[in-house]
Amino acid sequence: MTYPTQPKASHFINGKYVEDTDGAVIDVIYPASGEKIAQVHSATPAVIEFALSSARQAQGAWAAMTGTERGRVLRRAADIMRERNHDLSVLETYDTGKPYQETSVVDATSGADALEYFGGMAATLTGEHIQLGEDWVYTRREPLGVCVGIGAWNYPTQIASWKGAPALACGNTMVFKPSETTPLCALKVAEILHEAGAPAGVYNVIQGLGDVGAALVTDDRVDKVSLTGSVPTGRKVYAAAAAGIKHVTMELGGKSPIIVFDDADVENAVSGAILGNFYSSGQVCSNGTRVFVQKGIKEAFLTRLAERLKDAVIGDPQDPATSFGPMVSERQLGIVEGYIAKGKEEGARLVYGGARLAQDGFYIEPCVFADVTDDMTIAREEIFGPVMAVLDFDDEDEVMARANATEFGLAAGVFTRDLTRAHRVAAGFQAGTCYINTYNDAPVEAPFGGSKQSGVGRENSKAAIAHYSQLKSVYVRMGDVEAPF
Ligand code: NDP
Repeated sequence: MTYPTQPKASHFINGKYVEDTDGAVIDVIYPASGEKIAQVHSATPAVIEFALSSARQAQGAWAAMTGTERGRVLRRAADIMRERNHDLSVLETYDTGKPYQETSVVDATSGADALEYFGGMAATLTGEHIQLGEDWVYTRREPLGVCVGIGAWNYPTQIASWKGAPALACGNTMVFKPSETTPLCALKVAEILHEAGAPAGVYNVIQGLGDVGAALVTDDRVDKVSLTGSVPTGRKVYAAAAAGIKHVTMELGGKSPIIVFDDADVENAVSGAILGNFYSSGQVCSNGTRVFVQKGIKEAFLTRLAERLKDAVIGDPQDPATSFGPMVSERQLGIVEGYIAKGKEEGARLVYGGARLAQDGFYIEPCVFADVTDDMTIAREEIFGPVMAVLDFDDEDEVMARANATEFGLAAGVFTRDLTRAHRVAAGFQAGTCYINTYNDAPVEAPFGGSKQSGVGRENSKAAIAHYSQLKSVYVRMGDVEAPF
């Protein structure tokens, strides 16, 4: 079988595809079959140098363009991305294994949304005027310089776009390193941006493992680092960036709660729990993997959940009918199987799925555990796979304390028909992104990000601008300067 996946070269630097076969080979494995479908080479020191010097070189002229001009490039890129949605979605499915049913409506489309949104905003970025009697201060909103983006493997097109769009809108240039597991999609983002008119060097992509990411983060020419990854990687990257006093955005992991009160609409709560646990085979950072269900509604919730899970169509992710695909890699599948074994060992009640499918590819059934307690490993650690832990609770005070008793703070959701309780609970959540009677929506207009150890900074929305620009204050005196001597 031949796949439409082999990129023109491993890296995209200074407006062109670049190859250096001296770099270690990174095999691209199709998660649905386990077959090698492409290969790229890790960036050598020469490639890293070329990317950083190109980004540095391009930054001044890019920042000197008007916001309208920069925005036009981004909006053109958004249009191209939408026109090519089908091909980009097929590629995303090869890269990640996520079903086409998802990739065709979530990945390139949300990348295009970010390009369009920040493209529209580029021309509106201004400072302010502060009158001080006759004197005055004005502020200039200036770019940071060269930004490094480092991505996780679950949303390669989206992550490359969510970081690139606000960075470029503000007049920065970017060197983006995708996860070694999913190296293909970010190259297309670079290709499209340059086709849309981004000058050479404005958006570069280089491949590699953590060592390449580390080389980028520690380079003096880099002003900002935006990472999407796990908490342990976040700690390392944050520390390395701190040594150079660089700006950071950290989009890290979570173990988010969904609270379902007795008065909730059961069908909606089940839908929210399905979306928040099994979309992308559970490989979503904001997933609500601790589902607290009030005792009065527990059996109804579990019964409907099991009935609905039987409708999941597990299979070839390129088939638009498939709604549940494989895990991204053999390694990730092994991690998930390990947690399922741990759940059983520690006394959780397996009520649905959890078995590896006897076929090629990294498939495992969606899995639900009931009677989970707070101390169990599956209720404490991020699994990053399709494993839902259902926990019982009696009252609101108790469940809020338990929901917040975690070092993570990425997302949280509540299902209830009680309006005042819904807002009280949302206010009480220690999390950056909260949901009332829904779960896991991530529109570009709304800030997205975590509190506590789930992260620093916000992506999307007007809030992202603050993380890709800095303010300069200019003091203007209209009269004489008074000095003490
Ligand atoms: P990792 O933390 O393993 O890796 C993230 C990226 O960092 C990869 O590109 C990786 O390279 C790179 N990296 C690893 N070590 C270093 C280092 N020392 N210096 C610089 N870069 C480094 O995450 P995964 O790819 O496994 O993704 C899953 C994690 O991402 C989960 O914890 C998930 O919750 C989180 N995530 C968070 C999101 C959010 O918005 N909050 C969204 C999506 C995922 P390589 O892997 O190629 O070695």
